Formats: sequence, C-alpha cells, structure tokens
Amino acid sequence: MKAFGYVRAGDIDEALALRGDPRRSRFLAGGTNLVDLMKTGVESPAKLVDIRALPLDRIEDTGDGGLRVGATVTNSDLAVHPAIRTRYPALSQAILSGASGQLRNAATVGGNLLQRTRCPYFADLAAACNKRVPGTGCSALTGEHHNHAVLDWTPACVATHPSDMAVALAAFDARIGFRTGTGPGELPISGFYRPVADGAHRETLLPEGALITHVVLPPSPPGPSRYRKVRERASYAFALCSIAATVEVHDGQIGDVRIALGGIAARPWRARAAEDHLRGKEPGDAVFRTAADAELASARPLPGNGYKVRLARNLIVSTLDELISRESR
Ligand code: SF4
Repeated sequence: MKAFGYVRAGDIDEALALRGDPRRSRFLAGGTNLVDLMKTGVESPAKLVDIRALPLDRIEDTGDGGLRVGATVTNSDLAVHPAIRTRYPALSQAILSGASGQLRNAATVGGNLLQRTRCPYFADLAAACNKRVPGTGCSALTGEHHNHAVLDWTPACVATHPSDMAVALAAFDARIGFRTGTGPGELPISGFYRPVADGAHRETLLPEGALITHVVLPPSPPGPSRYRKVRERASYAFALCSIAATVEVHDGQIGDVRIALGGIAARPWRARAAEDHLRGKEPGDAVFRTAADAELASARPLPGNGYKVRLARNLIVSTLDELISRESR
C-alpha cells in the first residue's frame, strides 16, 4: 500500500475543505471497499478524509411518511431499524443479503452506493480494464464473464454494479442528497448512476468532490415488497441476479408496481418496460412472463452469461407470484 495522508473532519464544511483536489483524495467512512482497493493498488489517494465523526448517522421521519437516512448510518443499523423493517422490508432484506455481519457493521449507506464493481479484472493490475485505466481495453469481453452484464453494456465495459442496497433503493425511488462547496444538491437514484455508454471510468453523476449526506426514502408504496437474490453460495457472495419488487392489487388489477433488478447491468436496473406491461392487468403467470420478456427483450448476453436472461425472467415471475399470493391472503 502506498503512503497516504489521513485527516478527520468535524463537520461537513470542514470535510469538503479538507478534501482539496478530489482526484487525489477520498472520503473515508467504513472503508470496506476503499481500503481493499488501496491494498491492491487500484486506488492510491494521497489523502483520506475521515467523515465518521460527522452528524450523518441518523434515521429520521421526513414528515410526509418517508425517511431521511444519514450517509454514515451503517448497513447493519439501517437493516434492523423498525421503520425500515416494517415500511421498506425489501430494503432490509437486500442489505442483510449482502456481505457479512462484520462488514455490514462497518459499511455505510454512502459507501455502499459508491462501491466499485467486483469484476476480477478491475482488481487485477496486470489485466486490461477500461474502468481502472481508460483506453486499455476490457479483459472480461473475451475472458471470464459469467457474472457480467446482459443489459446496457458496451464493448468498453461489461461489469455489473455490486450493491444489493441500491437495487432496493431503486425500487423505492430513493433520492441521494449531497453537498459540494457551492451548496446542497439531490439526485434521484434513477439519475445517480451514469449509463455505461457515457464512459466506464466514472460511475456516478455525483459532482466531483461532493459528499453524500443522506438518502431520502419517499413514503412506502402501498403493496408488500420483497428482495430476492440468486448467488453462487448461500452467504457472502454478490448477486448473479437479484430483484427488489413491490406490487399492489386493486379491484383485481395490478396498480402500483415497481421492479428493480441487480447483477445484470452496470447500475441498478429499474424494469420500466415490465412495470408498464403489468399496470392495469389482472395478475397471473402469463402476464408476469410477458412482462419479464418485455423487459429482457434488449438483453445481449455474452457467450458465458446467457443463463442470466432466463434467471432474471424466472426471478421476476416467481417474485411477482409470491407478492401477489401475499396480497390475496
Ligand atoms: Fe474492466 Fe469493466 Fe472490462 Fe471488468 S468489464 S475488465 S471492470 S472494463
């Protein structure tokens, strides 16, 4: 690991001022991803600004039925918070399906949103990787890519986003609050991650040097919600494919429905085509299958990951089935 400077910030203004040149510094919270990347040499900031003392560790009601979650709330604290478990159960399930208990105790909401891909070539300094070093190529295209994207990729990068939490946040239409030197800002999660066509190197539309301060969860949707994750072993593995979904049935027809998929694209994938197909229909397997097919029509699997298209389809159908049967109980 290369030598680096370390400073602690006492408030947000100080954190932003201490950051200095954002290309040569990083904010440090849980460090569960950043420190690993520093050990392997993928990241080599000259300075870390520790933000753990900032007053960003609260979960508060917004007054309109939603919640405001501070950026340094740990993944463990968020997953077990009574309001999350009762009003946004898919978010609690998503967080608890990720990492290990020890990692969740350290990892924070802001860091979870900003974690980097687990594509093995990204962490291998000897491999060509446009995300790590733009213009060098993509080793995954012709290499090991069974866990890579099937939607919305380009030959520049076929990596997936690793976060479970962000998939649930996408289904709940969360908003990401941040601060820069010029003031506060907010991005909907649907506009937080950059499409991979805009370049593999930068993954979010967060202004350079900005500090994530909080996440806003709008009032919870009317139907039950669920997060399911398919992975290669029962614990501590990233998603091959995952889903966060919520569906409401009103007078025998599907009303409010939200579906987000993980493990199949470079960002949490909101399944708008499937949602559009489902709204107003009588629920049933045939409708669910057609909706899944509508969403996955644009999938372009690589030679080694075609299984993900069928997996995503089955996951959509079975999760909707489960939610509908709960609704009708
Ligand atoms: Fe790098 Fe993306 Fe290719 Fe992986 S998929 S090697 S992260 S460019």
